[in-house]
Amino acid sequence: MELWLATGNRGKVDEIKNLLKDAPFEIHTQDEMSFFAQPPEDGDTFLANARIKAKALHAMKPEAWTLSDDSGLVVDGLGGLPGVHSARYAGPKAQSSENNAKLLKMMQLRSATNRKAHYHCTMVAIDPEGKEHIFEGQLSGEIAKVARGTGGFGYDPVFIAEGQSCTVAEMTAGEKNAISHRSQALKAFIEVLKTSV
Ligand code: IMP
Repeated sequence: MELWLATGNRGKVDEIKNLLKDAPFEIHTQDEMSFFAQPPEDGDTFLANARIKAKALHAMKPEAWTLSDDSGLVVDGLGGLPGVHSARYAGPKAQSSENNAKLLKMMQLRSATNRKAHYHCTMVAIDPEGKEHIFEGQLSGEIAKVARGTGGFGYDPVFIAEGQSCTVAEMTAGEKNAISHRSQALKAFIEVLKTSV
């Protein structure tokens, strides 16, 4: 059975492939489709954007499973930002280092003493019958004072998960996968697979 991932984000793809390594799927990504046009992610919720991505890929591969991931970092002291804008917080083509620098600067500018934050992940899977399945996961924590570590991707150097002293970028891939928002959503996906594949 084929599973097509509706994301071009290398960090996400690596984590999803690792977490689904025992699932009965041959995993492909949208990047393998040279004619695939990435739809604009103009929804204002994680679910809306996850749906846009899953539907666009399902239209190209209706006979396979498709799976999208819309995720981001929600910072309490910044009124929930960057949230659904996480990938492009510092601009449309922003690198993760620029997003992280902007986040730390905004925390300083707003004198945000509340550093509580969480990662959120919404996944939408569409099965070969066209049925939609929704999965979610959340990882609570706080924003670090400075960026630390080289592992993971995105905001991992500035995010400290609850109960940890190191940033997520200082954890091993296995340690991150054991607790991440993405792994929680994927565990729920795997449960659905057990009854439908
Ligand atoms: P999306 O492609 O619109 O879902 O963008 C998700 C963005 O949220 C990524 O580009 C990262 O900036 C951030 N993000 C999502 N999940 C993670 C994670 O596990 N670690 C760090 N940053 C993440």
